[in-house]
Amino acid sequence: MHSHDVSSTSPATGGAPHQATTTERGAFALARCPCGWSGPARRSRERARADAAAHMNMTEQAHPVPG
Ligand SMILES: [Zn+2]
Repeated sequence: MHSHDVSSTSPATGGAPHQATTTERGAFALARCPCGWSGPARRSRERARADAAAHMNMTEQAHPVPG
């Protein structure tokens, strides 16, 4: 039974890379990731892309290298 709850770190789904993309909602754009994360609504699509990039960078660093 692997039912451990990790609240500080988001569990990676099979080690799949985060694929954050931007989506538009009305006049706003926001970044979303299949992991369930979503960024704040931005007025600029570029801002949303920056959020997506930041999320992927953050999650990358959050993964400790074993060994
Ligand atoms: Zn993600």
